[in-house]
Amino acid sequence: MLDAAFMRRWMSATAAAVDREAAHLTDLDSAIGDADHGANLQRGFQAVTAVLDKEAPDTPGAVLALAGRQLISTVGGASGPLYGTLLRRTGKALGDAGEVSREQLAEALGAGVAAVGQLGGAAAGDKTMLDALLPAVEALGESFPAAAEAAGAGALATVPLRARKGRASYLGERSVGHQDPGATSSALLIGALAEAAA
Ligand code: ADP
Ligand code: MG
Ligand code: MG
Repeated sequence: MLDAAFMRRWMSATAAAVDREAAHLTDLDSAIGDADHGANLQRGFQAVTAVLDKEAPDTPGAVLALAGRQLISTVGGASGPLYGTLLRRTGKALGDAGEVSREQLAEALGAGVAAVGQLGGAAAGDKTMLDALLPAVEALGESFPAAAEAAGAGALATVPLRARKGRASYLGERSVGHQDPGATSSALLIGALAEAAA
């Protein structure tokens, strides 16, 4: 079963992965965006770990909801409200249970990902974070490692796609041939989830 401490490990592992990969995320965003994705997420997840240390919410749902609110208020770019909504909505869907199963987390994350789609108007194949998140949710019903693998594969599969949402969509055909930064950071997020579970 997954408790509040598990969710905090997930958020810490995400912050560490984002730190490690910040330059790579920024490189990807400089090719088809405005070169701030690494810095946006570093700032955001540093703030998330700080607020979780300070407030120490005691249920899994409360940890994710607080993390989401913090991302929304800290990150200015498109990814802040989108990742913030993902975590806030996932946290809300978990309710106030003290422990949840992987299956319950998969279902809640599905609700979070649906909320991202609703907020940003993107769907599968639009070359966004959803291209990593949607297959990850699907595979999380099976196992944590399967989810991480699916997210990584989803991020790689954005390379040949043409962006239809966000800044990269302004490039039209010129967005083809580049990996989407947000799908790449989503693979880090889900990789960190598998790390927390290992
Ligand atoms: P900004 O584009 O405002 O600089 P970031 O660089 O932090 O924000 O994030 C860019 C990423 O956000 C993209 O690579 C993409 O994955 C994701 N993104 C942008 N717009 C949308 C959207 N409408 N729906 C889903 N994801 C989106
Ligand atoms: Mg950007
Ligand atoms: Mg920006």
